[in-house]
Amino acid sequence: MNHETFIEHLQTSPGSPNSRRLSMIPRPITPTKTESVISKEGYFKKSITPPSPLRFRSPQPVSPTRFLNTRSYDKDDLERLKSQIRNKEVQLQEIKSDILEYRTKIQQLEVEKVECDERVASSAHSVRLKEGQLENKMLELEHIKDDYARDVELKIKELRVTNETTFRETERSYRDEMEEILSTKVSVIQRNKTALMEKLKLLNQRISNNEECFQEDLTQLEESYNVKEQEFKTSLEETRHFLVESLADLDQQRSQFKRELDELTKAYEDKLNLKADLLKKLQEDKSSKVEEDNLIFKLRETIENLKNKIGTYDEKISSLQKNTQFKLSKISKIEEGFLNEETIRRKFHNRLQELKGNIRVFCRVRPPLNTEPFAVIDIQVPDNDEEEQQITIKDPKIVTNGNPTSSTNSSSKCHNFKFDRVFEMNSTNCEIFEEISQLVQSALDGFNICVFAYGQTGSGKTYTMSDRDGMIPRAVEQIFETSSRLSEKGWEYKIHGQFLEIYNESINDLLNDKPNKGQYKYEIRHDPDTLQTSVTDLMSVEISNPQMMNGLLERALKNRSIASTKANERSSRSHSVYIIKIQGVNHQTGERNHGILNLIDLAGSERLNHSQATGDRLKETQAINKSLSCLGDVIYSLAEKSKHIPFRNSKLTYLLQNSLNGNSKTLMFVNISPCVPHFNETLNSLRFATKVNNTKFKALKRNVETPVRS
Ligand code: ADP
Ligand code: MG
Repeated sequence: MNHETFIEHLQTSPGSPNSRRLSMIPRPITPTKTESVISKEGYFKKSITPPSPLRFRSPQPVSPTRFLNTRSYDKDDLERLKSQIRNKEVQLQEIKSDILEYRTKIQQLEVEKVECDERVASSAHSVRLKEGQLENKMLELEHIKDDYARDVELKIKELRVTNETTFRETERSYRDEMEEILSTKVSVIQRNKTALMEKLKLLNQRISNNEECFQEDLTQLEESYNVKEQEFKTSLEETRHFLVESLADLDQQRSQFKRELDELTKAYEDKLNLKADLLKKLQEDKSSKVEEDNLIFKLRETIENLKNKIGTYDEKISSLQKNTQFKLSKISKIEEGFLNEETIRRKFHNRLQELKGNIRVFCRVRPPLNTEPFAVIDIQVPDNDEEEQQITIKDPKIVTNGNPTSSTNSSSKCHNFKFDRVFEMNSTNCEIFEEISQLVQSALDGFNICVFAYGQTGSGKTYTMSDRDGMIPRAVEQIFETSSRLSEKGWEYKIHGQFLEIYNESINDLLNDKPNKGQYKYEIRHDPDTLQTSVTDLMSVEISNPQMMNGLLERALKNRSIASTKANERSSRSHSVYIIKIQGVNHQTGERNHGILNLIDLAGSERLNHSQATGDRLKETQAINKSLSCLGDVIYSLAEKSKHIPFRNSKLTYLLQNSLNGNSKTLMFVNISPCVPHFNETLNSLRFATKVNNTKFKALKRNVETPVRS
């Protein structure tokens, strides 16, 4: 039976188990060589001799022509054909029996093959089982390895805590154990492998006895086994490698642990050193604490001492406070006294001024001017410190037209005049002001002061009063200086200036520049209660600084009526009155002062006949002379304490009524010219001044009898 027929036969028997098995056959087996035969004993190779082609040869077809010729055939031929058919039938029977035999054999072989398949399957199954077991073992090994790794880690950790030697030993033992386990496992696997190999060998032997197709399967199995073995080897190698790596890791970890241990040891040593240091420090601290305790003790002692000292200081402070209180009360008393001192000073100053005389007369001789080509009168003046202030002038004898022309005559008559002070021709305004300053102080103290400059025209009245360094600017300067000084004592001053002139018995405002000022009516008013004098429409300017005074003076001089006369190029024909009102308030004591300083530049006192004035000039001269004699009369009456004082007889005395009356102080400068041509006028001036001066002694006598109340 050829292979195709065999396969066909198997396929025609679907219930046959060989039909399933045959599908596993990878390629057709060449039937020419051998044919697999399954016997009850197993596979074996049997040379199957195919039936002879002759046996299968179809009977020779009988040619029709031959059949046509059969009629001619004999009986032998038929018999021969019949025997041939019988032979063929026998042969067919044989073939049929052979077929049956073959079928039986095939069935047997099929059974054997099935058995063999089953065995192979069971072998494969057992291989798979072994593989599974191996895998399980590998997994187990993995787990064990993991467990061991964990254990190793734990053990290493423990070992880190314990010591390095134990760690090494344990590590070695674990490594050995692992090696052992590994070798055991490997040997088990090896044994298994060997067993399997043996089994496989057996199978191979058995299979080798069987059909080639089974050999192929075996080869496949072998191959797959080889693959598995290779895989297993690979996995084993991997495991080994893994284990080696693990060991390397362990080594690394060990070295890491060693490093860490070293570090820890070092840290421990450091800690030990630190501990030693700390102990040392603690020791030091203990000793320093003792020192600190001592220090604290000392500090406490110091604090105690300080407390005691503080107590002492407190006592001292309280005594000092008492002392301070006492001193403060003393200071307040001193301050009170200081404030009172000013009041007392004022009283004494006033007393002194009164003693000096409420009416004083100073004589001032001006120097001859470059513009005066005249002889000079022989004038004897005392020294400043001389008590007797007497001026002596010699009468010049040579007279031309009734006027003296020369003073150089030894037999000339001497005229003596006594005054409070005599200032020789070289005296300066500064020296003269020293005397005036006391009266300015009195004005600041609240008294009324009148300073007159009397004398013939050109004798130096204006120079004395209104020059740049004259009495008026100096007085104002002093007022500001003193008021600023007295501000420390609570005094505050306000200064007002009024400048007027009395010309022909009428008042003219020297500060008023207005063209319509002629319309103003300057009427003198006296307040009987306050004893204050005011002039209606008269301008009053507050002087806030001494410099202001110069401007006001210039304005006044410009406005002053000046008329030319034969006696002098510049003949002042009016009385100029500079009224400086000083109002003082003491905010501490509540005291109030109101003093008036009247500085009067009188009109020229020259005689009528001398000036040879006529008309208006004569009228002017008469008015001037009248007012001057009236002034003399008033002063005389005041000194005499007459019941009637003729203030009203002239505008000047009426204006100055309150400043001449009562406790007022009056100073009269008598200015004289040293020129011989002015001798008579000088003499007259000196005589007038002497008359005023004499009144003072009577007043002084009365003042001495009535002591001042403090
Ligand atoms: P009066 O005002 O009395 O008419 P003045 O004061 O105008 O006189 O003086 C007349 C002149 O004499 C002025 O030129 C003035 O400068 C001068 N004179 C006055 N007194 C002195 C003095 N003591 N020293 C220097 N010159 C003076
Ligand atoms: Mg003048």
